[in-house]
Amino acid sequence: MMKKVWKIAALMLSLVLILGCFAACGEKTPTNGEEGTTAGEVGTTVAAQSARLADGVLTVGTNAAFPPFEYLGDDGEPDGFDIALIEAIGEKLGVTVEVMDMEFDSLCTSVGNRIDVAIAGMTVDPEREQTVTFSDNYYKAIQNVLVAADNTEITDMASLEGKAIGVQQGTTGDMIATDEIPNAEVKRYNTFALAVEDLKNGNLDAVIIDQNPAEVFAAENEGVLTLLGAENFGFADEYYAIACPKDDSALVASVNAALAELQADGTFDQLVAEYIEK
Ligand code: GLN
Repeated sequence: MMKKVWKIAALMLSLVLILGCFAACGEKTPTNGEEGTTAGEVGTTVAAQSARLADGVLTVGTNAAFPPFEYLGDDGEPDGFDIALIEAIGEKLGVTVEVMDMEFDSLCTSVGNRIDVAIAGMTVDPEREQTVTFSDNYYKAIQNVLVAADNTEITDMASLEGKAIGVQQGTTGDMIATDEIPNAEVKRYNTFALAVEDLKNGNLDAVIIDQNPAEVFAAENEGVLTLLGAENFGFADEYYAIACPKDDSALVASVNAALAELQADGTFDQLVAEYIEK
């Protein structure tokens, strides 16, 4: 008789434990779509589970010198596609977005401490993945080459050998110039704008820079600079993603869920049309 009572008690206890675990796991799992909908909070559709968001603020690092993805607006505040995108993500998560303008080269090491995430037209790269976890990709990119309009010498990768090449410090353009062009004299700048200035001043033979900003700088300097495409240089496709802390899978999942919703509901395409294809 006593044995039976114990058996029932044990059974009930395990039932409670199992149910409890389900409830707890359910709480911790970042959800997307309807499941994460928080009734009553306008604009909030994705659960923000990360402890980093408990204060209601998503602190974002960028380098506002990479148009059209980020630049300083007329009011001196960071603006651009990435800024609009991360603000839309913040809205989905029900948090306020605070943007900090920093040097590109210090973004990855600041993720998870000074800033929660970084968005900066940042290419997914295995070296960076030692320090950060990337969100899903949100944009496909490729490097281009900018030269002075009267330069007829630079036409392909081989012709860059031994040349003075300007890049923004720590970018994929820097990696290519440093690792793939024999005897290049690589000059590293804090921003691409400074590299472009030095190209205009005749101190550089070329600047290696992502296609969209390259198009912006070429348009701003018509007749002065020429944009050489990617075709003759054999550059690989690159993919932009948001750099998240390595120890915060909840934040990565929330960012990805918000991104997926923005892609599904047409907001993402709207931002592309507004900032990139305009
Ligand atoms: N996409 C390049 C990189 O990730 C450049 C980014 C930038 O300068 N903002 O290195």
